[in-house]
Amino acid sequence: MTAANRSLADGLRWTAQGSAIFAGALAALPDGHLDRPTRLAGWSGRHLPAHLAANAEALVNLAHWARTGEERPMYSSPAQREADIAAGAKLPAAELRAWSARAAEALDARLAELDRRHWQRHVRTAQGRTVTAAEIPWMRAREVMVHAVDLGAGVEFGDLPADFLLALIDDITAKRSGADGPALALAATDHDGTWTVSGSGGPTRVAGTLAGLAAYLSGRRSDGVTGSAGDPAPTLPRWL
Ligand code: ZN
Repeated sequence: MTAANRSLADGLRWTAQGSAIFAGALAALPDGHLDRPTRLAGWSGRHLPAHLAANAEALVNLAHWARTGEERPMYSSPAQREADIAAGAKLPAAELRAWSARAAEALDARLAELDRRHWQRHVRTAQGRTVTAAEIPWMRAREVMVHAVDLGAGVEFGDLPADFLLALIDDITAKRSGADGPALALAATDHDGTWTVSGSGGPTRVAGTLAGLAAYLSGRRSDGVTGSAGDPAPTLPRWL
Protein backbone atom coordinates (compact mmCIF):
# COMPACT_ATOMS: atom_id res chain seq x y z
CA MET A 1 0.00 0.00 0.00
CA THR A 2 3.00 2.30 0.18
CA ALA A 3 4.69 2.83 -3.16
CA ALA A 4 1.46 2.38 -5.14
CA ASN A 5 0.01 5.60 -3.73
CA ARG A 6 2.83 7.86 -4.78
CA SER A 7 4.93 8.23 -7.89
CA LEU A 8 8.55 9.14 -8.46
CA ALA A 9 7.32 12.55 -9.67
CA ASP A 10 5.51 13.01 -6.34
CA GLY A 11 8.70 12.24 -4.43
CA LEU A 12 10.72 14.71 -6.49
CA ARG A 13 8.06 17.41 -6.09
CA TRP A 14 7.84 16.87 -2.31
CA THR A 15 11.62 16.92 -2.03
CA ALA A 16 11.67 20.33 -3.74
CA GLN A 17 8.78 21.64 -1.63
CA GLY A 18 10.17 20.24 1.62
CA SER A 19 13.67 21.56 0.93
CA ALA A 20 12.21 25.03 0.40
CA ILE A 21 10.12 24.76 3.58
CA PHE A 22 13.12 23.62 5.65
CA ALA A 23 15.42 26.27 4.13
CA GLY A 24 12.82 28.95 4.85
CA ALA A 25 12.42 27.84 8.47
CA LEU A 26 16.19 27.70 8.96
CA ALA A 27 16.65 31.13 7.38
CA ALA A 28 14.04 32.53 9.78
CA LEU A 29 16.00 31.22 12.76
CA PRO A 30 18.58 33.83 13.84
CA ASP A 31 22.12 32.58 14.52
CA GLY A 32 21.62 33.30 18.20
CA HIS A 33 18.71 30.82 18.33
CA LEU A 34 20.56 27.91 16.73
CA ASP A 35 21.84 26.71 20.10
CA ARG A 36 18.36 26.41 21.55
CA PRO A 37 16.71 23.00 21.86
CA THR A 38 14.47 21.82 19.02
CA ARG A 39 11.46 19.53 19.40
CA LEU A 40 13.77 16.53 19.02
CA ALA A 41 15.16 15.47 22.38
CA GLY A 42 18.87 16.20 22.69
CA TRP A 43 19.15 18.09 19.39
CA SER A 44 19.66 21.84 19.05
CA GLY A 45 18.91 23.97 16.00
CA ARG A 46 22.45 23.12 14.86
CA HIS A 47 21.97 19.36 14.82
CA LEU A 48 19.02 19.39 12.41
CA PRO A 49 20.73 21.21 9.48
CA ALA A 50 23.88 19.15 10.13
CA HIS A 51 21.83 15.93 10.04
CA LEU A 52 20.00 16.99 6.86
CA ALA A 53 23.27 17.97 5.14
CA ALA A 54 24.82 14.62 6.06
CA ASN A 55 21.60 12.88 4.94
CA ALA A 56 21.81 14.62 1.54
CA GLU A 57 25.41 13.45 1.16
CA ALA A 58 24.37 9.92 2.16
CA LEU A 59 21.62 9.94 -0.47
CA VAL A 60 24.15 11.19 -3.04
CA ASN A 61 25.97 7.92 -2.30
CA LEU A 62 22.79 5.98 -3.15
CA ALA A 63 22.32 8.04 -6.33
CA HIS A 64 25.89 7.14 -7.32
CA TRP A 65 25.16 3.48 -6.60
CA ALA A 66 22.01 3.62 -8.77
CA ARG A 67 23.74 5.40 -11.66
CA THR A 68 26.93 3.36 -11.80
CA GLY A 69 26.00 0.05 -10.18
CA GLU A 70 28.99 0.50 -7.85
CA GLU A 71 27.80 -0.23 -4.29
CA ARG A 72 28.14 2.84 -2.07
CA PRO A 73 26.35 2.72 1.31
CA MET A 74 24.67 5.80 2.78
CA TYR A 75 26.97 5.96 5.80
CA SER A 76 30.19 4.07 6.48
CA SER A 77 28.81 3.16 9.94
CA PRO A 78 26.16 4.32 12.44
CA ALA A 79 28.98 5.71 14.64
CA GLN A 80 30.37 7.73 11.71
CA ARG A 81 26.88 9.10 11.03
CA GLU A 82 26.57 10.32 14.64
CA ALA A 83 30.11 11.75 14.61
CA ASP A 84 29.47 13.70 11.38
CA ILE A 85 26.29 15.24 12.83
CA ALA A 86 28.09 16.18 16.06
CA ALA A 87 31.01 17.72 14.14
CA GLY A 88 28.69 19.59 11.76
CA ALA A 89 26.76 21.03 14.68
CA LYS A 90 29.96 22.67 15.94
CA LEU A 91 30.57 24.58 12.68
CA PRO A 92 30.25 28.38 12.72
CA ALA A 93 26.64 29.30 11.86
CA ALA A 94 27.46 30.64 8.39
CA GLU A 95 29.36 27.48 7.45
CA LEU A 96 26.62 25.26 8.79
CA ARG A 97 23.99 27.14 6.77
CA ALA A 98 26.17 27.00 3.65
CA TRP A 99 26.77 23.23 4.07
CA SER A 100 23.05 22.63 4.48
CA ALA A 101 22.24 24.51 1.25
CA ARG A 102 25.18 23.08 -0.73
CA ALA A 103 24.44 19.47 0.21
CA ALA A 104 20.77 19.84 -0.76
CA GLU A 105 21.74 21.33 -4.15
CA ALA A 106 24.27 18.57 -4.78
CA LEU A 107 21.63 15.93 -4.11
CA ASP A 108 19.21 17.64 -6.53
CA ALA A 109 21.93 17.67 -9.20
CA ARG A 110 22.76 13.98 -8.70
CA LEU A 111 19.09 12.95 -8.77
CA ALA A 112 18.61 14.93 -12.00
CA GLU A 113 21.21 12.66 -13.65
CA LEU A 114 19.21 9.49 -13.07
CA ASP A 115 17.23 7.99 -15.93
CA ARG A 116 14.42 5.42 -16.03
CA ARG A 117 16.83 2.50 -15.82
CA HIS A 118 18.76 3.99 -12.87
CA TRP A 119 15.60 4.63 -10.85
CA GLN A 120 14.75 0.92 -11.03
CA ARG A 121 18.11 -0.24 -9.65
CA HIS A 122 18.24 -1.63 -6.13
CA VAL A 123 20.04 0.20 -3.33
CA ARG A 124 20.14 -0.36 0.44
CA THR A 125 18.99 2.16 3.03
CA ALA A 126 20.80 2.89 6.29
CA GLN A 127 18.21 0.69 8.02
CA GLY A 128 19.23 -2.20 5.77
CA ARG A 129 16.11 -2.21 3.59
CA THR A 130 16.56 -2.95 -0.12
CA VAL A 131 14.54 -0.47 -2.18
CA THR A 132 14.58 0.81 -5.75
CA ALA A 133 16.38 4.10 -6.31
CA ALA A 134 12.94 5.61 -7.00
CA GLU A 135 12.51 5.59 -3.19
CA ILE A 136 15.38 8.07 -2.71
CA PRO A 137 13.30 11.23 -3.33
CA TRP A 138 10.60 9.97 -0.95
CA MET A 139 13.22 9.26 1.74
CA ARG A 140 14.54 12.80 1.33
CA ALA A 141 11.09 14.42 1.24
CA ARG A 142 10.18 12.73 4.54
CA GLU A 143 13.38 14.00 6.17
CA VAL A 144 13.14 17.63 5.08
CA MET A 145 9.39 17.95 5.70
CA VAL A 146 9.27 16.37 9.17
CA HIS A 147 12.49 18.01 10.37
CA ALA A 148 11.19 21.41 9.20
CA VAL A 149 8.50 20.95 11.86
CA ASP A 150 11.04 19.64 14.40
CA LEU A 151 13.04 22.85 14.03
CA GLY A 152 10.32 24.63 16.01
CA ALA A 153 10.69 27.77 13.90
CA GLY A 154 7.07 28.23 12.93
CA VAL A 155 6.39 25.31 10.56
CA GLU A 156 3.69 22.88 11.73
CA PHE A 157 2.38 19.66 10.16
CA GLY A 158 -0.64 21.67 8.99
CA ASP A 159 1.71 23.78 6.83
CA LEU A 160 2.87 20.71 4.87
CA PRO A 161 1.06 19.74 1.60
CA ALA A 162 -1.99 17.54 2.23
CA ASP A 163 -1.00 15.01 -0.44
CA PHE A 164 2.38 14.62 1.29
CA LEU A 165 0.64 14.08 4.66
CA LEU A 166 -1.56 11.37 3.10
CA ALA A 167 1.50 9.61 1.67
CA LEU A 168 3.30 9.93 5.01
CA ILE A 169 0.37 8.40 6.89
CA ASP A 170 0.19 5.55 4.32
CA ASP A 171 3.93 4.96 4.73
CA ILE A 172 4.01 4.98 8.53
CA THR A 173 0.86 2.89 9.03
CA ALA A 174 2.32 0.25 6.67
CA LYS A 175 5.65 0.35 8.51
CA ARG A 176 4.03 0.20 11.95
CA SER A 177 1.88 -2.80 10.96
CA GLY A 178 3.76 -5.88 11.96
CA ALA A 179 6.05 -3.96 14.32
CA ASP A 180 5.61 -3.94 18.11
CA GLY A 181 2.78 -1.64 19.04
CA PRO A 182 -0.96 -1.40 19.58
CA ALA A 183 -3.49 -2.17 16.84
CA LEU A 184 -5.09 1.05 15.58
CA ALA A 185 -8.05 2.08 13.41
CA LEU A 186 -7.38 5.66 12.34
CA ALA A 187 -9.80 8.12 10.76
CA ALA A 188 -9.14 11.63 9.49
CA THR A 189 -11.66 14.23 10.62
CA ASP A 190 -10.92 16.80 7.88
CA HIS A 191 -10.41 14.47 4.91
CA ASP A 192 -11.68 11.17 3.50
CA GLY A 193 -9.28 8.65 4.87
CA THR A 194 -9.09 5.64 7.17
CA TRP A 195 -6.06 3.52 7.95
CA THR A 196 -5.37 0.47 10.07
CA VAL A 197 -2.25 -0.57 11.91
CA SER A 198 -2.09 -4.24 12.83
CA GLY A 199 -0.66 -4.88 16.27
CA SER A 200 -1.40 -6.07 19.77
CA GLY A 201 -4.94 -6.07 21.19
CA GLY A 202 -8.21 -5.07 19.59
CA PRO A 203 -7.80 -1.96 17.45
CA THR A 204 -8.10 1.37 19.28
CA ARG A 205 -9.97 4.01 17.28
CA VAL A 206 -7.87 7.13 16.77
CA ALA A 207 -9.27 10.30 15.22
CA GLY A 208 -7.63 13.57 14.22
CA THR A 209 -6.90 15.90 11.37
CA LEU A 210 -4.51 14.73 8.64
CA ALA A 211 -1.84 16.94 10.19
CA GLY A 212 -2.61 15.59 13.67
CA LEU A 213 -2.51 11.95 12.55
CA ALA A 214 0.79 12.49 10.69
CA ALA A 215 2.27 14.10 13.83
CA TYR A 216 0.94 11.32 16.07
CA LEU A 217 2.14 8.47 13.84
CA SER A 218 5.59 10.00 13.43
CA GLY A 219 5.93 10.25 17.21
CA ARG A 220 5.60 14.04 17.38
CA ARG A 221 3.40 16.20 19.60
CA SER A 222 -0.14 15.78 18.32
CA ASP A 223 -2.72 18.09 19.84
CA GLY A 224 -6.32 17.15 19.15
CA VAL A 225 -5.69 13.50 18.28
CA THR A 226 -7.99 11.34 20.40
CA GLY A 227 -8.45 7.66 21.11
CA SER A 228 -11.63 5.74 21.92
CA ALA A 229 -14.22 7.72 23.94
CA GLY A 230 -12.09 10.85 23.74
CA ASP A 231 -9.22 9.33 25.74
CA PRO A 232 -5.67 10.21 24.71
CA ALA A 233 -4.48 8.07 21.78
CA PRO A 234 -2.22 5.16 22.78
CA THR A 235 1.50 5.80 23.11
CA LEU A 236 3.45 4.42 20.17
CA PRO A 237 6.95 2.94 19.96
CA ARG A 238 9.61 4.76 17.91
CA TRP A 239 8.95 5.11 14.20
CA LEU A 240 12.41 5.36 12.58
ZN1 ZN B 1 16.17 12.42 10.23
